[in-house]
Amino acid sequence: MIPVPGFEGRRVAVFGLGRSGLTAARALKAGGALPVLWDDSVSSRMQAEAEGFAVEDLTVADWSGFAALVLSPGAPLTHPKPHWTVGKAGDAGVEVIGDIELFARSIAALPEGERPRVVAITGTNGKSTTTALIGWVLKQAGMTVHVGGNIGIGVLALPAPTPGAVYVIEVSSYQLDLTTSFAPDVAILTNISPDHLDRHGGMEGYVAAKARIFAHADLSLVGVDEDWGQRMAAELEAGGRAGTRILTSAHPGESRDPVLSSETQASGDRGRSDPAQTDHSKDWVPAFAGMSGEIEAAPGRLTIGGRMAADLTRARSLPGRHNAQNAAFAWAAARALGVSHDAAVEGLMTFPGLAHRMEEVARLGRVRFINDSKATNADAARQALSSYDRSFWVAGGRAKAGGIDDLEDLFPRVVEAFLIGEAAGPFAARLGDTPHRISGDMASAVKAAAGTAAATGREEVVLLSPAAASFDQYPDFEARGEAFRAAVLDLGAVPASAA
Ligand code: ADP
Repeated sequence: MIPVPGFEGRRVAVFGLGRSGLTAARALKAGGALPVLWDDSVSSRMQAEAEGFAVEDLTVADWSGFAALVLSPGAPLTHPKPHWTVGKAGDAGVEVIGDIELFARSIAALPEGERPRVVAITGTNGKSTTTALIGWVLKQAGMTVHVGGNIGIGVLALPAPTPGAVYVIEVSSYQLDLTTSFAPDVAILTNISPDHLDRHGGMEGYVAAKARIFAHADLSLVGVDEDWGQRMAAELEAGGRAGTRILTSAHPGESRDPVLSSETQASGDRGRSDPAQTDHSKDWVPAFAGMSGEIEAAPGRLTIGGRMAADLTRARSLPGRHNAQNAAFAWAAARALGVSHDAAVEGLMTFPGLAHRMEEVARLGRVRFINDSKATNADAARQALSSYDRSFWVAGGRAKAGGIDDLEDLFPRVVEAFLIGEAAGPFAARLGDTPHRISGDMASAVKAAAGTAAATGREEVVLLSPAAASFDQYPDFEARGEAFRAAVLDLGAVPASAA
């Protein structure tokens, strides 16, 4: 737990007693504040009371006595309309903040030499993978690393800061909206496409929330595949801020040969071996000079200014263009924190991957089964579909706006689609001439897909990448991924972990 200083002896309203709200209350209390808790749910209030917290009805409380309102990221700050606590706080001149801001303040309160460093990651897709990957790379390099935030453990439940430690924190747009002084050493925006627009009053609001990650950052790493990212990078540059653009290319074929200029060698942090050597794996870009410029990520490789920076073809958990993008962020963040080039690349190679994100779960004969249950929108499914020339695609669930319209260019890669859930009918209509069938549930889809794939006699892939939310059939995407795994293992497939 990270005690939060700055509110000693003062009343702080905490609304929303989910995991992050309760953790915030504990952290405030540990720092000497007097948290006052409330939630619409009676059982949450009872749990807070059982833990010994002061629970007071905030609808009738005297707001003039509060030093701050700590709001759960689940409660709307602005849209569709501000939560009633936000109105009360505004009327009383009480600031509204969230757990990431409390974390920021507890770090800032430490003497300069004792502050841990912070890497923060946001974006529409790829947050969790990039967060876990950076955590892994830094850990492999021997650092003390705490990974959490919007992934796994809430930020304030992580171990208390120690000098030299690094916090790697995933932050959502809702959490960013509730920050005012968050100042990560490295801030990352993976990419940005329309999502959660109802909560941000449209795209401008969503982008503005994401941009807050850079407001006080030392180094900004910005994905510039979309206009929004490009605009953000341009603004940071115009403001004279240190930053690096991460550009993803779909074409791995260009400039495979590493070229190192003598000037780069001279400024490098490690010498280069025999320039005549043919083993390109040793021809790395020796330095990430100035932490500024552009990194290009293409499937299987990272390049800087056309020079090979890292060959990712041996990184088995980082397939595809999107993972090259994630790897570029991880490499740059690690280098910025002083990890050697070799150690950073080694970390990318050994990353075991995250469950439910293009996770190879098992193999049956010549058929591989890939669990990408986390692909809850078309953009995420695009990454998976484009990673395989042929796939037997299990898709469907509760469709998002636009359904699979944007994936049409990838339909030729789909040998057959097996559709489940509420979206089965609409997805079938959209697939048109692309072979498909309505399977209904996961077990039927997996069985049919496995049988059809095996019948080709070729190396094939059965891919669960639903392009839809899971809530029509499952509590969350994890449960959906586990249902896929169970159905696959039921067929007698050999788990990847046993291979
Ligand atoms: P998030 O935490 O932002 O939801 P995840 O890392 O959990 O992101 O990945 C979510 C989905 O997005 C996965 O299906 C994955 O295949 C896809 N994905 C991962 N990285 C990226 C990326 N850089 N760009 C686009 N899609 C990605």
